[in-house]
Amino acid sequence: MKKCCEIITIGDELLIGQVVDTNSAFMAEELNKVGIELYQITSVHDDAAHIATAVMDALSRVDVVITTGGLGPTKDDITKHVLCEFMGGHLVPDASVEAHIRDLYKNRPEVLNRLTETQWLVPDNCTVLPNRVGSAPLMYWQTPEGKQLFSLPGVPYEMETAIREQVLPVLQKENTEQITHRTIMVSGIPESALAIHIEDFENALPENIHLAYLPKNHTIRLRLSGYGVPAERVEEEQQKLIALTHQWLIATEDKPLEVLVGEKLKAAGKTIATAESCTGGKLAMLLNKHAGSSAFYKGSVVAYSNEVKEHVLNVRKDYLEQYGAVSEQVVAMMANGVMKLLDTDYAIATSGVAGPDGGTPAKPVGTVWLAIANKNKVYTECLHLRGNRNTITDTAATLALVRLLSQL
Ligand code: ATP
Repeated sequence: MKKCCEIITIGDELLIGQVVDTNSAFMAEELNKVGIELYQITSVHDDAAHIATAVMDALSRVDVVITTGGLGPTKDDITKHVLCEFMGGHLVPDASVEAHIRDLYKNRPEVLNRLTETQWLVPDNCTVLPNRVGSAPLMYWQTPEGKQLFSLPGVPYEMETAIREQVLPVLQKENTEQITHRTIMVSGIPESALAIHIEDFENALPENIHLAYLPKNHTIRLRLSGYGVPAERVEEEQQKLIALTHQWLIATEDKPLEVLVGEKLKAAGKTIATAESCTGGKLAMLLNKHAGSSAFYKGSVVAYSNEVKEHVLNVRKDYLEQYGAVSEQVVAMMANGVMKLLDTDYAIATSGVAGPDGGTPAKPVGTVWLAIANKNKVYTECLHLRGNRNTITDTAATLALVRLLSQL
């Protein structure tokens, strides 16, 4: 049977724009991967009536309700009390939660106090699932109607661990419909043109295989999802899609670009460095984001000013004066400069006008020069991007990785 789920995120901070609800995005993605359909996401205040009504409404609509937030020991954290009362239970001390919390605090500088000690009070009618990385107990109820209610902490890494290690295994036990996703990534074609190009393929897809377009920063992931069909059947369609889009194809796996770049560099035993002007370290952040990046990523120079370009990266002063910082000549020297400085096999450099000021008729906001160097040659490209400062620099960093990937 296919399950349907709702998420309720709890916390005043979510409703005043102070904290972005990334928990829902994470859970939605994880639930989707295992074929659990998400019906609705709701955010509510730290308010007893508001929480109880939201949970009651959600349980009336779907099979599974997951709440996050409000499990801490302070007065504003009321989720545990509200859910306990709503489900008709009483808070009682739990010896195994107490032992776990005492153990956690052995390695913490702070000491247990009367507030933290309330963390091992749990509803007497729920199943307590282990929270390996935190002190708030994870609570799980099954209603007489067979509905499932989970209450998880708001702290993102605690919630993520709880979802992966505790919630999904429980849900997958009963969710018998097999879901298979296969994804490819393309770049260099607008979404609407791509949709026209693969229109016949899309129209011919069987009813239980869906195609989703997921565009981001000038790349488009095309995800095929098969519901209740063998993986081989979805892979058959993926092969057709690969053949149809080969001229724009960057990846045939659903992995972040920086992971794909890292895998290729590692496999070849090569290293990389970056010299970033307009992207200000975004490439550096991506390249060291995942564990194991030290095998291929050596470091970066954020060369925002001309002085740094000249004195650290050895960019010729007369080039900076004659062509300007946002130029093919300068970006190529930046890439070669950092490759030499950090003794790597490859280097990426960026220099552009991210705006909102600084544009000229010759180099309007959104003009970004990219360079990708190896020991034998330097590839350069001028991008003309649209958007605000953030989207321009995000897209420039993404396209730098796309170009590098196609050269590796
Ligand atoms: P704690 O034990 O730390 O109090 P908690 O379960 O009570 O955990 P909250 O106090 O609601 O959780 O949130 C803890 C932190 O987690 C918040 O400061 C916030 O930064 C983050 N957080 C809470 N909810 C979300 C969410 N939906 N998305 C992203 N971050 C969140």
